[in-house]
Amino acid sequence: MPIPAPFGYDSPMQLDINPRGNGACPLCAAQGACRLQERLAASLSEAPDAENGGMEIVVYSCPSFREKA
Ligand code: SF4
Repeated sequence: MPIPAPFGYDSPMQLDINPRGNGACPLCAAQGACRLQERLAASLSEAPDAENGGMEIVVYSCPSFREKA
């Protein structure tokens, strides 16, 4: 169930995956068609972003990682 944004905080949270910091993304072959990223972004889109800064994450280990050819 989506959480209603507090008054004045109706902009959705944007997902920013940091490719540095030993992160697995976006080095994976699934980048651009990744269901994990889509689900993370969809979950955050229901959260208010009071500062319009989004949420930055680093993926350190991913069970769906596929090496680029
Ligand atoms: S499968 Fe994992 S490592 Fe690959 S793009 Fe998606 S989240 Fe990143």
